[in-house]
This record gives sequence, C-alpha cells and structure tokens, in this order.
Amino acid sequence: MPIVRVAVPVPLPQLFDYLSDDATQEDIGRCVQVPFGRGEKNGLILALPEQGDWALERLKPVTHIQRDLPRLPSDWLELVAFAARYYHAPIGEAVALALPPGLRRPRVRSRGKPSDAVAVDNGECQIGICPALTPAQADVLATCRAAPAGFAVWLLVGVTGSGKTEIYLRLAADVLAAGKQVLMLVPEIALTPQLEERVRARFPAAHIVSLHSERAPVARARGFVQALEGQADIVLGTRLAVFTPLPRLGLILVDEEHDASYKQQEGIRYSARDMAVWRARQRNVPVMLGSATPSLESWRHAQNGRYRLLNLPDRALASALPVVRLIDIRRYKLDEGMSPPLRDAIAARLERGEQSLVFINRRGYAPVLACPACGWVSQCPNCSAHRVVHLADRRLRCHHCGAESAIPRACPDCGNQDIRPLGRGTQRVEVRLAALFPTARVLRIDHDAARTPARREALLAAIAAGEADILVGTQMMSKGHDFPRLTLVGTLGADASLRAADFRAPERLFQQLMQVGGRAGRADRPGEVLIQTEVPAHPLYASLIRHDFDAFARSELDHRQAAAFPPFSYQAMLRADAPELATAVGFLRQAKQEAILLADSAVRIFDPVPMRMTRLARRERAQLLVEADQRGALQNFLAQWLERIYALRIQRGLRWHVDVDPMEV
Ligand code: ADP
Ligand code: ZN
Ligand code: ZN
Repeated sequence: MPIVRVAVPVPLPQLFDYLSDDATQEDIGRCVQVPFGRGEKNGLILALPEQGDWALERLKPVTHIQRDLPRLPSDWLELVAFAARYYHAPIGEAVALALPPGLRRPRVRSRGKPSDAVAVDNGECQIGICPALTPAQADVLATCRAAPAGFAVWLLVGVTGSGKTEIYLRLAADVLAAGKQVLMLVPEIALTPQLEERVRARFPAAHIVSLHSERAPVARARGFVQALEGQADIVLGTRLAVFTPLPRLGLILVDEEHDASYKQQEGIRYSARDMAVWRARQRNVPVMLGSATPSLESWRHAQNGRYRLLNLPDRALASALPVVRLIDIRRYKLDEGMSPPLRDAIAARLERGEQSLVFINRRGYAPVLACPACGWVSQCPNCSAHRVVHLADRRLRCHHCGAESAIPRACPDCGNQDIRPLGRGTQRVEVRLAALFPTARVLRIDHDAARTPARREALLAAIAAGEADILVGTQMMSKGHDFPRLTLVGTLGADASLRAADFRAPERLFQQLMQVGGRAGRADRPGEVLIQTEVPAHPLYASLIRHDFDAFARSELDHRQAAAFPPFSYQAMLRADAPELATAVGFLRQAKQEAILLADSAVRIFDPVPMRMTRLARRERAQLLVEADQRGALQNFLAQWLERIYALRIQRGLRWHVDVDPMEV
C-alpha cells in the first residue's frame, strides 16, 4: 500500500505519513483529509515516499483524497516550502496559510467559465480608454519592453499621481495580450476600490479575481481555484494573494511596495513583497515594485544594481507637486494642537470651496484620561498601555486588546470629579474644528468611523461627492484615494516619530508624510502641505520640503550603515510571551545559551529584553535579537538554532515565535 506524506496544519516542523490504497504520484499536491489525534485534519500531500519513517502497521489510512480539484502544481509547492524554510515555520502551517480555508473541504467547486479571449491587441490601447503617455511614462515603458524576457526586478519610483498605475496597466496589457496571467498586489484592497475599478474598466474582457481577507471564504476559495485552473487573467489582492497558484504567470506588480502591511504580523511573519520577488525569479518573469517612497531595502538594491531603477519624476497631470511648508509651533500658542497659520489656511480653503485634511495619527478623543488630584490614569488592566478616551460613544478603550468600559464620572481612586482627557486624537480635533468653523462640514475618517467596509465606502462616497469641507483622519486616509477638491493637508504631531526608538521610525514618517501630502492638489488645483513641527531644522523635513526622497534615503542609509542596521545586516527576532515576564525571559535565556553553543561567529546574539510594550492582553512579552551581515549566514544559523529550540522543554503557558526580517524591533 503506498505511503503518502502529508503536510498537516499543526505547529510542528514535520510531515506525517499515512497509508492510501490508491494514491499515485498524480496525487502529490492534492488536498487530503486525515485522522489526527482524536479528530481529523485537512492536509496536503507533498510526497509518496518509497519508505516511511515508521513501521507500516503504525500508519493510519487517509480518510479522503480530494480529487475533484486540480492538484497544486509543483512550483506552488516549492513556493510554500520556501516560505516555510525562509521564515522557519512548520510546513503544515505554511500550507494552511497559503490555501484558502474553504478549499480544504470537498464540494467547493469552481463555477467560473474559461475566460474569453482578452480584448487587448498587442498591448495597444483603444482610443478613449488609455491616456496618451507622458514622455517620462513612455521612457519607462520603453525601457521595460526593451529588456530581455524573463526575471527582472524593476523599482518604479514616482510621487503620488506620477502615473505609476498607468505603467502597471500598460505592462499588464502586454502580458494579457500574450495570453499570460498578471498578479497585482496592493497593500489594502479595501482601501483601493478605485484601483480595482480602474483595472476592470481597462480590461473589460479579462477575468479578474480579487483576493483579500475581507472576502468571504467561499469567494476566496473560488477565486483561488479559478486562478489555479488558469481561468483568471488578473489576480488583484492583498498580501495573501501572493500564494495564488498561477499556471500562466507572466508578470507580478507590487504597488506601494514599502507598505508595512505586506509583512504579516502574526502566524508566519512573511513579507509578500519579498515572496513576490522570489516567485518572479522562480517563474522567470518580471516583477515591478512601485512606490513614491520605496523601502530602504529595495532602494539599496536599486543603488547597487540588483534592481533596476525607473523614475517618474513629475505628476502625470498638469498640476505641480504640492508646496510643503513647515510651521514652527514653538512660535505659536496652539489651539487643540492647531496653530494659527493652519487655521487660517483651512479658512481660506473653506472660502474657496476646497477641501482640507487634518492628519493626526491617533484615533479616539484623547490617549489617556487622568486625575490631576491623585495621579490615576486610565491604564489598561491587560496591557502596558493606556485606555483611550472615546467621547463619541463615551468609552475608555484599549487599542491593543480591546478592553473597554464606560468613561467614569469621577476618579475611580479618589472620587475627584475633575478628571481630564490628556493629549488629543482625531475626535478631539474634529470637535474643535466643528466649533471653530461652525458652517463647515467636518468629517472624521479613522478606523472607528469606518469600522465596516460599508461605512468606509459611504464615507469615501461622501467625500467624493463633495459632502465634506474638512476631513480629519489617521493614516488610513493617506492611501490610494483621489480627492480632486482636496488642496490642503495639515499634519499634527509628526515629531513624535523622530523621537521613537525604532530605527525604522524616520523611514515610516517620511513615507507617511509624502503619502498623505500626495493627497493634496491632485487635479487642476495646486496643493499645499503644512507640517507642524518643533524641529523645523530636522534634515528629514528639509528633504521632505524638496520632495527629495534621494537625499532622505542617502542620509538615512548612512546612519543605518554606521549602526549596521538593515539593509546592511539581516535580523531575526525570537519573541516569547507568557503570563509571567520571568517565564518569557527565562525561555529566551535558554535559547541564547543554545545559540552560544552553536558558536557561529557570523551571527551576533543580543540579550533577551522585555518588549517595549511589555504587557499585551495579559501576557508579558520579551524578545531576543540575532543579526548577521549576510542573509545566508543568518539562515544557516536559524535552521540549527530552531532545531535546538524545538527540543527545549517549554514551560506551561509559554508561547514563542521567530520573526525573520522583523519590521518592529
Ligand atoms: P500613481 O499610481 O503614480 O499615483 P496614476 O497612474 O494613478 O499615478 O495617475 C495619476 C492620475 O493621472 C490618474 O488620474 C491618472 O488617470 C492620470 N494619468 C496617468 N497617466 C496619465 C497620462 N499619461 N495622461 C493623462 N493622465 C494620466
Ligand atoms: Zn484621583
Ligand atoms: Zn489592553
């Protein structure tokens, strides 16, 4: 009886053998139901070994091999195996991550019909649908088209509105015309319905599948199968779409390649952007990474020639880049965080019937409620964080664990009635703006106001229809939207990032400010960006005023090199959490001992430290950083080290994970 070797979604770094009376090589890559423990699990057949690791009589038979679906092709299995290997995750968990949940159940069948021929002829656009290219766009496109076929990484750098998306669409048209599939990744599809519409409008005859976490499991499974069967022409999706099987893959596009949401922050902490590059190499197809502010990792690759740099220096439409000005807030008395020049600028927009956006990266009314009499603060009982004052629904809410309660009328400790919200978030700014400009329609856009997709759509529609004069928003606002009447962006509290301990904080701040500033003046009206700061002489702001990403990147990379931070080194973080901090730290100490025993001089091993936010949802967290100058050295070390860590005796209640190329350190 043949043995089948199955990846089962359990947190163990091994495969499991079963028996099947009729399995053949043809079943490799098929979903399978197997008995596991006291229940059953859905897994994937990865091999039919000649000989198992166990005596035959100890093996159990599989329950069911799902043959009504096409099997997953070997390149897909390699992709998933790579993810497991590179991120040092159990293969079964990598399979579970990459397969949509519904797929592992029988009876989910593709209902798609094979797509009609794609109505694009040799990549030429029908008049009226495509704009004539700008000279810069034409250059970029000519360069790409002149390149030899096969793998290449293009880094397309262009400010918001420079026409990057137009480039993606033209390249996609070429690929579709050649009968191939396009994979297009976006950071958050929910925030970019405009892009999906644009793709659909451009390729009306193409079969477009959109895949993201907000889609119902059945729809996701269906899209996955359509891609697998080769019916889908374009797969448009968020990071998980990078695992879509694409037999005719011809091109991968990664929009906003710097965006943090490409890195998964739980389970297998993979970077969809990095996986996309690996996959392009594997399939020998080009991949284009696009951004106004590329990640310094990608930027460095472009500098040393591994990636090919393409530039779109100007906006595609006539409007100039917004004018960025700094407001030195040391010179003014602020009114709920807003300076008189910002207020005046908003007033001027109101008079002209234009929109303003006030950007503050903190939702809620105030980040903390405090009692001035006894020093009580609205600490979260579960986290090392304050519960945030939400005046809109009168709640105190922890943004990390969700714990909430009503806002107390008096201090819970001393009974003082004069308790005060300290600091400010979007709600407070919203309230103040409404008071300052009583005739203006003030609209708040943050995760509270846009909790459901329907509410988010309604808000965006209201803005597009001109039903708002002043927008108050968090970074949620800064992505992808096109608001033609928006001509002013003011930012509050940006300096906080300059003081942050994370070495990536300046990079994120620059990206964020460029992106949110890019919202201003997209159409025929010039835009203005006002940045309130106490450190107007900071070099980051100097680069920002000049829209000079190069200068920023150069100086930031100098710092990184001096400190041997990525991209000049490669990092991995071992994190542990437990009810008691000592348990977590104790485990990391043991892990460090194991690391030292490996005596790998290519790897630097740091001490275990409590995480900056130590307590989260009643668990105490600590981490241990390891670092090497070469990716290969780090990978070799991790493989050996984790084998030893898996062999450690783990105290009850302890959880651990490894994060390769961590974004938060
Ligand atoms: P990005 O992706 O860089 O933000 P887009 O491709 O979305 O830029 O282009 C910004 C705006 O300019 C869009 O409204 C788009 O339709 C328009 N646009 C892009 N390229 C051209 C062009 N060659 N001619 C006219 N309009 C263009
Ligand atoms: Zn008190
Ligand atoms: Zn909490």
